[in-house]
Amino acid sequence: MIETFFVTTALPYANGPFHIGHIMEYIQADIWVRFQRMQGHRVHFVGADDAHGAPIMLKAEAEGVSPEELIARIAAGRPRYLEGFHIGFDHWHSTDSPENVALSQDVYRRLKAEGLIDSKPVEQFYDPVKGMFLADRYIKGECPKCHSKDQYGDACEVCSSVYSPTDLIEPYSTLTGAKPVLRTSDHFFFRLSEPRCVAFLHEWLGQPGHVQPQVANKAREWLSGKGDQALSDWDISRDAPYFGIPIPDAPGKYFYVWLDAPIGYLASLKSYFDSGKARANGEPRSFEAFLTDPDTRQIHFIGKDIIYFHTLFWPAMLKFAGPPYRVPDNIHVHGFITVSGEKMSKSRGTGISPLRYLEIGMNPEWLRYYIAAKLNANVEDLDFNPDDFLARINSDLIGKYVNIASRCAPFITRLFAGRLSGESHRGGRSLLSRLQSREECWSRVGLLYAEREFGKALREIGGFLDEINRYIDEHRPWDKAKVATEHHEVQQICSTALAMFWYVTVLLKPVMPETAAKVQDFLNLPDGHMAWGQHSFFPAGHIIQPYRHLMTRVDAKQLDALFELPATAGAESVPREKGASASQAAPPSPASAVPGAAKGPAAPAQAPATLSIDEFKKVDLRVARIAAAEQVAGADKLLKLTLDLGEETRTVFAGIKAAYDPAALVGRLTVMVANLAPRKMKFGISEGMVLAASGEAGGPFLLSPDSGATPGMRIS
Ligand SMILES: [Zn+2]
Repeated sequence: MIETFFVTTALPYANGPFHIGHIMEYIQADIWVRFQRMQGHRVHFVGADDAHGAPIMLKAEAEGVSPEELIARIAAGRPRYLEGFHIGFDHWHSTDSPENVALSQDVYRRLKAEGLIDSKPVEQFYDPVKGMFLADRYIKGECPKCHSKDQYGDACEVCSSVYSPTDLIEPYSTLTGAKPVLRTSDHFFFRLSEPRCVAFLHEWLGQPGHVQPQVANKAREWLSGKGDQALSDWDISRDAPYFGIPIPDAPGKYFYVWLDAPIGYLASLKSYFDSGKARANGEPRSFEAFLTDPDTRQIHFIGKDIIYFHTLFWPAMLKFAGPPYRVPDNIHVHGFITVSGEKMSKSRGTGISPLRYLEIGMNPEWLRYYIAAKLNANVEDLDFNPDDFLARINSDLIGKYVNIASRCAPFITRLFAGRLSGESHRGGRSLLSRLQSREECWSRVGLLYAEREFGKALREIGGFLDEINRYIDEHRPWDKAKVATEHHEVQQICSTALAMFWYVTVLLKPVMPETAAKVQDFLNLPDGHMAWGQHSFFPAGHIIQPYRHLMTRVDAKQLDALFELPATAGAESVPREKGASASQAAPPSPASAVPGAAKGPAAPAQAPATLSIDEFKKVDLRVARIAAAEQVAGADKLLKLTLDLGEETRTVFAGIKAAYDPAALVGRLTVMVANLAPRKMKFGISEGMVLAASGEAGGPFLLSPDSGATPGMRIS
C-alpha cells in the first residue's frame, strides 16, 4: 500500500547558523524520507526557520538592523548547509510569514471558542529604561541562598538553587543595568490542565507508536503533575515590544514564540501546497484535503530537549482546534550529539562546525554514514569520536565497500574493454541469491530503516560486505588474471562481485545518495535500476565505465583541522530562548573563493617532455605539513605557507589564494619540491614549491599523500 507522509524536523531558531545538532537531526530525517520514497511512498518533507521572540528582536536591535533583515540574512545561509549535506527538504519556510499568522490566529480562535483560553493578571519584572517586561534570563542579581553575584533570575549556577526572579537580592536588568520594577499585565493561558486536555493526552500517549515508550513515560509523569515539572496552564502571550504574531482582539499582546513555532510546520506545508510544489511532487489535493485525509501521516523528528512542547501542548492544541488540523501520528525523539563524550560548548570549543567540515573538503557522506552507523530508535546521545570516525570511514566504508569496486572493475576494463559477463560465477551464486532475496536481504534491512534503527541496518549491510570480500579473496581474480585460460572466470567473478556491489549500493542509497548516483553512472545503469529490491543480473554484453575514485579516505589531519577553532570563535552574546541544547563553534571565515585560473608557483603547466630517471631523481619531493597559512597583504593570488618538513620549516608563497581559504589549509599534508632554488619575490623569499593540479575543470587542487605519511618523508 502506498502511504503518504508529512515529515518535519524541529524548527531552528533563526538567530544563528545551523550547528552540528541540527545537521544530525536533518540527516536522520533525510535518510528516513529517502528510504520511504524508495519504497514508493509519497513524502512531503518541509522545514522552516523559527523567527520570532525576544532574542531575535534584541539581537537585531544590537546589530542596528530590523528583525526581518536579521532573519533574512540567516535564511540566506541555510541552503549552503542543506545542499552541502544532501538534505533534501521539499520546502523551507519561515514562521514570520502570512501563512503562519493566519494559521496561528485561527488555532487560537478555535481554542478560545472551545473554552480553552484563559486570561489572568501576572506580576512580572519590568525594565523601566528599556520599556519592556523581562524574561527570567534578562534579570541577574545576588543568589538569595549562597550570595553569589550575577546569577540569573531563575537559578544559581554556583549553588544550583532554583528560585523566582523576585527572590534575587539587588536585581538588575541585563539589558540596561536598570533596577527592574514589578508590574502587572494580563496574560493569556492555554488551559492544558483542563480535564478534557488531560484525558485526551493520556489516551493519545497510551496508544502505541505515537512516541517512543520512554518519551511516553516522561510525558505521563508531567501530565500527572509528578516529576520535575508540575502540570500547569501555559502562558502563551507576551507584551509589546515583541517580535511575533499579534493576538486577535488584544492590542499590544503577541503570541509567545513557542505557540507559533510548531504551527510553523503547518505554515511551511501550506506554503509548499500554495506554491504548486506539492502538485509537482505528485500531490494534487489542497492543503486542507491533504491534512484531513485519515491516511495522511504527520511525523515530527525532534530532539529530547523539546519533548514537553511536542508531546503535551502540540497534540492538545491540534486536537481541540479540530479539523483540518490533525494530531501528530508519530513524534520521533533523538538524543544530543556529543563530541568525544563531552556535550558541546562554545566556550570550551569542542564543537564541530558543519560549515568548516564542508570548507576543509570533508566528504558530507562520511558524516551521513557515521551518524547513521551510530543512530538507533531510542532517545540516546550520539558521540562523535574522531578516532572512531576515522576507523569507520577508512576501514568499513572505504576498506569494505568501495574496495569491492576498486578491486574488481579494473580487470573488466583492462581485460574485457569494460564488458561484463552476462552469467554469474558459480562460486558466488549462493551469496548472490541471498542478496537478491526479499526475505533474506531487502525486507530485513528495510524494516530496520523504517524503524529508524540505522545502526543495525548498516551492521546488517556490513555483514554482506564481509561476505562479498571473502568471496573475492577466495577466488583471487588477480591471480587468475595472469593466466589467459582463466580470463573467462575472472570476468564472471568480477561481474558477480560488481552485481553484489550494485545491490549493496542500493541498500546504502538512503544514507549516501551521491555515491549511489556515481555508482549508477560507473556501472552504466539506466534509471530505475537503483530501486529498492534489485534482483536482476547484468544483461549479457553490458559495458561499464572505467573505475574512478568513488570516495577518498579520511586524513587524520582533516580531523585535526576540523577541531581547530577558527579565529572568530567567541561566546554567544544573546541568550537562547529556545532550540536544541547543542551549540557549535562560531562560523568559520567566509567562503573560499571559486577555483579559478590562478597560476603561480604551485601550478606547473608545462607540457611533459621525456626525462631520465636520473634527472627525475634530482627533484627532492617531500611530504610537508602546512603549519600556517596566511593572506599576503597586496598579493591577489598568493598565500604564504609555512611548511613543516619534520626537521625544518620552509616558507613558500603559493598561487592558490583563489581556491583555498587559509584557515582550511592549516594542518593538512601536501607535497613540496624541497630543493628548488630559493626565489626572491616581491613579498619575501620562497623556499620551495607545493604541488597542485589544474586544468579545464578548474583548480588549483593541492596534492595530498594518503593517511600514514608524515612530514619530511621522501617521495619517489
Ligand atoms: Zn547560589
